[in-house]
Amino acid sequence: MAGQSCPICGKPTDRGTKPFCSKRCADIDLGRWLDGRYRVPTDEAPGPGEAPDDNDD
Ligand SMILES: [Zn+2]
Repeated sequence: MAGQSCPICGKPTDRGTKPFCSKRCADIDLGRWLDGRYRVPTDEAPGPGEAPDDNDD
């Protein structure tokens, strides 16, 4: 499967570390996963894709 991109940084996936571009991004993703699993969400900012954006129309 070609054309995949790293879910962390968007760079082309490396077949040795897919679906990430590098071991580093794989570690980042793992860290996020563990973070979300073991930490209780408090009043932190919402996840990615929920950035507040005032649309003054
Ligand atoms: Zn990456």
